[in-house]
Amino acid sequence: MVSAGHLPPLPTIGEIIKLFCLRAKKQLSQNFLLNLKLTDKIVRRAGNLKDAHVCEVGPGPGGITRSILNASVAQLLLVEKDARFIPGLQMLSEAAPGKVRIVHGDILTYRMDRAFPEHLRKMWQDDPPNVHIIGNLPFSVSTPLIIKWLENVSNRNGPFIYGRTQMTLTFQKEVGERLIASTGSKQRSRLSIMSQHLCTVENCFIIPGRAFLPKPEVDVAVVHFIPLVEPKIQQPFKLVEKVVRSVFQFRRKHCWRGVGILFPEADRLEKTEQLMLTADVDPTLQPAQLSMLHFKSLCDAYRKMCDEDSSLFAYNYRDELRDKLKSKRDRHLKPMEEEV
Ligand code: SAM
Repeated sequence: MVSAGHLPPLPTIGEIIKLFCLRAKKQLSQNFLLNLKLTDKIVRRAGNLKDAHVCEVGPGPGGITRSILNASVAQLLLVEKDARFIPGLQMLSEAAPGKVRIVHGDILTYRMDRAFPEHLRKMWQDDPPNVHIIGNLPFSVSTPLIIKWLENVSNRNGPFIYGRTQMTLTFQKEVGERLIASTGSKQRSRLSIMSQHLCTVENCFIIPGRAFLPKPEVDVAVVHFIPLVEPKIQQPFKLVEKVVRSVFQFRRKHCWRGVGILFPEADRLEKTEQLMLTADVDPTLQPAQLSMLHFKSLCDAYRKMCDEDSSLFAYNYRDELRDKLKSKRDRHLKPMEEEV
């Protein structure tokens, strides 16, 4: 038994795992943190949690959960998908009476806009509310989840109806590097632009894979996000995402190549030139060399062209490519069909 800060003596996380037969499911990428010094370190990087309302995503056997409870939070909401962990979490909840709410559910569909009390809401331009999200999730969940939450930041909905809610989440080390990558770096990618145009992103520290049970193949980055008062690119999320995705589609080519696929083949060259000129971006730069300001100019110029041509935004390069291949195949098949 160990005494954990403000919590009464509790079995260790290792004992909880044994007690409730919580063997990690490899197919669900479950890797647990048993070292409470490390879970304390993650929680410290989330900021001052005194009297905070916190949502922990994927608490599993509850290592990070204990560190959060030891940080004198007001309320802790736990969202866990795997029912096997609920009894162990209930035990933790009993050790901190009235503080913990447990939801057996999927964080990808959970209504975060109803997760916290209304009175915690702050204006967007105010300091962040005393509301935090913390989690060590499987990588297959954390990456789609951060894309979803970045869209929520842009629209100020989901967990961000409360204001500029801070998030402290783990990612595969390489994804963490992409999230913070600056102009010109090898890791610069779609994720770098999408995250940094909406948030201050800090790669806090790396946890070596060997700290987890079972040990994952990769190291893990702890990343902290604070939504910006003013996004760096003031355009709708979907538009920014479309421009950024297109540009990085050809990451080793000059950037005009990716910009080109924003336009139908029929007038691609002319429209690409028009966009590059309006944006005043050197078309021979590579995607990774483009700064946030370059992306802002590209998005603003594309927006202007979409406003002038209402069908442009719906254009999809992949659909055109697929249709082209299909009609090529059909043309090929025709003589044979006629022979029969
Ligand atoms: N946070 C614990 C720790 O650090 O030891 C467990 C980490 S384990 C990598 C990920 C946890 O997230 C597991 O408990 C898993 O069941 C849970 N999980 C996975 N997908 C989830 C989802 N979509 N919603 C909520 N929880 C999820």
